[in-house]
Amino acid sequence: MQLPSYFQSKTKDVLKTLIHEKSTPFLVLDLSVVEHQYQELKNGFKPADVYYAVKANPADEIIERLVQLGSSFDLASANELKKVLKFNVEPSRLSFGNTIKKRADIQYFYEQGVRLFVTDSEADLRNIAQYAPHSKVFFRLAVDGSETADWPLTKKFGCSTASVIELAILAKELGLTPYGVSFHVGSQQRNIATWEHALIETKTIFDTLKNEHQIIFKMLNLGGGLPAKYVQETEKFATYAMQINKALMLFSDYTLDQIIIEPGRSLVANSGVLVSETILVSSREDQRWVYTDVGVFNGLIETIGECTQYPILFEKSSKTAPAILAGPTCDSMDIMYQHQPYHLPEDLDTGDRLYWLSTGAYTTSYSSIEFNGFLPLSYHVVD
Ligand SMILES: *Cc1c(COP(=O)(O)O)cnc(C)c1O
Repeated sequence: MQLPSYFQSKTKDVLKTLIHEKSTPFLVLDLSVVEHQYQELKNGFKPADVYYAVKANPADEIIERLVQLGSSFDLASANELKKVLKFNVEPSRLSFGNTIKKRADIQYFYEQGVRLFVTDSEADLRNIAQYAPHSKVFFRLAVDGSETADWPLTKKFGCSTASVIELAILAKELGLTPYGVSFHVGSQQRNIATWEHALIETKTIFDTLKNEHQIIFKMLNLGGGLPAKYVQETEKFATYAMQINKALMLFSDYTLDQIIIEPGRSLVANSGVLVSETILVSSREDQRWVYTDVGVFNGLIETIGECTQYPILFEKSSKTAPAILAGPTCDSMDIMYQHQPYHLPEDLDTGDRLYWLSTGAYTTSYSSIEFNGFLPLSYHVVD
């Protein structure tokens, strides 16, 4: 079994030790990969501030490393705020990026010094005006990209161009600072043109507000959506950076105070190796089923609909043959890959380990507490 070369060499040694000491499943996170991804993002988007979307992986060690590297943070709840405040991040490096917030949480963010809030509705905007007076607000624009994103995010969030304009006018009346526009083109977005389309729409908003309402936006938030390395390849990061930066030229007439990117997946996914063990191999109606001790409910939720296809490594190097891969629970949703079966070693057997690559994002944070008695996914850090 050969780990990809972007891991530091000691990660392999740590894995070897842990497989004897710990029971599976567990996740190993190589912080040097997170650091590499952070630098790549900074270099690719020089004028932008990186706001890490903490939900992708809220491990303290990741937050701490990103604080040291100078990252800012996109937060969705009071608990995420508490997590980053432990590392003494200045509140000017934080944003409340969830459009669905409790009043008490808005107030808590405000008390902790956060002055940057997203919104996409009048009700939420009025709450912000009341509990976080005079703050900067940006408006989440609904954009289309769900067809080409592996994990779409557009269904629940965002409002129309016309609503952004109305909300910006209302924000000003309420004493807030209407600051800019955000969007999320969908996670693991394969079509780079979706950013360009979103930016063209955003430019219309900037122009209308400036020309018709004397409101000058100062901020652009390009969201997440940048890719990690899964089975199905994407364009190279450099191509993403080049095309998105080119689309930003649309705004050359504006003096922006801030451009924000909010990476989650692209920052942390590649850093993870999830180790699982084969519980059972069985034959059901002439198909080979491989059941592992990790599944949809203890780390692999993003395999629902076979959306995310993680590369898998094995110790055995025998010939491979197709198999259906499923998890350990008594729930028939707990099947990772059935329609696009994976090729696994022909002699794969009980006790054999599987190494799931690119599992640093949306695995630990999505795993259930104790469904069927299976514990949440534990993790170990290599720094
Ligand atoms: C989840 C989320 C992100 C991160 O998206 P990725 O595709 O994982 O990079 C960024 N911004 C917001 C508002 C989010 O909800």
